[in-house]
Amino acid sequence: MEFTYAAAPESRSVVDIAPSYKLFINGDWVAGKGGTFPTINPATEEVLSKITQGSASDIDRAVKAARNAYTKIWSKLPAKERGKYLFRIARILQERAREFAVLETLNNGKPIRESRDVDIPLAAAHFFYHAGWADKLDYAGVGKSPKPYGVVGQIIPWNFPLLMLAWKIAPALATGNTVVLKPAETTPLTALLFAEVCQQADLPDGVVNIVTGDGRTGAALVNHPGIDKIAFTGSTEVGKIIARAIAGTEKKATLELGGKAANIIYDDAAIDQAVEGIINGIFFNQGHVCCAGSRLLVQESVYGTVLDKLQERMAKIRVGDPMDKNTDLGAINSAAQLAKIKELTSAGDSEGATRWSSPCELPEKGFWFAPTIFTGVTESHRIAREEIFGPVLSVLTFRTPAEAIEKANATPYGLSAGIWSEKSSKILWTAQNLRAGVIWSNTFNKFDPASPFGGYKESGWGREGGRHGLHGYLLTTQKSHSQKGGK
Ligand code: NAP
Ligand code: MG
Repeated sequence: MEFTYAAAPESRSVVDIAPSYKLFINGDWVAGKGGTFPTINPATEEVLSKITQGSASDIDRAVKAARNAYTKIWSKLPAKERGKYLFRIARILQERAREFAVLETLNNGKPIRESRDVDIPLAAAHFFYHAGWADKLDYAGVGKSPKPYGVVGQIIPWNFPLLMLAWKIAPALATGNTVVLKPAETTPLTALLFAEVCQQADLPDGVVNIVTGDGRTGAALVNHPGIDKIAFTGSTEVGKIIARAIAGTEKKATLELGGKAANIIYDDAAIDQAVEGIINGIFFNQGHVCCAGSRLLVQESVYGTVLDKLQERMAKIRVGDPMDKNTDLGAINSAAQLAKIKELTSAGDSEGATRWSSPCELPEKGFWFAPTIFTGVTESHRIAREEIFGPVLSVLTFRTPAEAIEKANATPYGLSAGIWSEKSSKILWTAQNLRAGVIWSNTFNKFDPASPFGGYKESGWGREGGRHGLHGYLLTTQKSHSQKGGK
């Protein structure tokens, strides 16, 4: 018997979106000099608000405010007092969680269930975790009384807008830095609401500055001489531009870039659980996840079983209104991202892979893509090598563990991987041979502020989260310390 779901819409009355937003500089809302652009709801294409395009002179103003706040206030504050501000911010995020979740879903297109149960609670958890570190930095592993860099420029993508902000701002403030943050062009609203939280928490003016805008605003921040360090999350392409821009300067950088994770299913795995893990690995957040399990590697002997169960499960994914609490898969974040997914999946067709999509109905307005798998994929196909960043899974097979490792590592990336097996020794052997920064076994896409995150090779430099993540914001007082991650 089939059960149908009655719609369970979340109310949007809890958020109050202004018709337009200014920039948040030195604790105040200031008009920018670069004009405005609309921000939309990708599920409906409705214009939500007008956002300021931050210019180079706005960035200059924000960097000066951050420097002033750093020298005059933040660097002089006892560490314990810094921690109190972080605790306060964390508590306000919890108190206003529903408002943040609804706003995130409206501006990003992700299901309310995910913004409510993952993005916002994890963002608050990052502030709580780092609040605890503020007065314990002697134990961070970089020597006695480590010092902050000073002013940090932070640039984040659109896939987890508030969560990426928390990954950036919480450790920077806990370690005593001040920040200028640029949210992604398509998802600025929760960062602007966070500015209000800073005011509510009485955070000293200029400690956090939020400058909205597109890639030009980001470039102005990267190239500003008053920045001591850049913390960037986004594409490998822009990561390389940033690395080139700061080469030869004193600026430090951490770069969290793309991925093309292998999710390895051995024939002794608990298949039903593995299928749930595959679904979560690639369809969580519409596949807009840098560590998504986008390359499925299945041992040949269980290929048929896994594929049947996977298609059966995919047909049950509920695609549609992100504000409906029953929805599993929401809207693609932008027309540009949808075009990129379509372009890469057409390449999959023309290179000879076989496409199968879940038979779901897609809404007429907005940007949508049905959950899709490609079988008959070989390592040379573009869909096996390039990051699609959408709800699309490429399926490959292997015969021996050694072949699984070889295929899994045959990528310029090295961010994450998954291993499914009942045998711990096989899991440990596999994990030791994979060149990936984060490896999950018998689960996928699990995050915790105490656990460092980051990649090898083209997936970036440095780690975020945990004790390791603090190193990217502290000058070492002990031995020479490179920010480059990976081996
Ligand atoms: P993106 O184009 O690299 O953008 C990331 C951020 O950089 C945005 O705020 C963007 O502004 C800004 N930007 C663009 N050009 C810039 C420039 N020349 N100088 C400085 N900043 C610039 O990436 P995206 O398309 O938004 O996000 C998807 C990518 O991010 C994927 O490749 C994904 O794997 C990666 N990602 C990685 C992680 C991780 O932790 N490793 C997490 C999430 C996403 P605009 O918004 O205006 O473009
Ligand atoms: Mg972009």
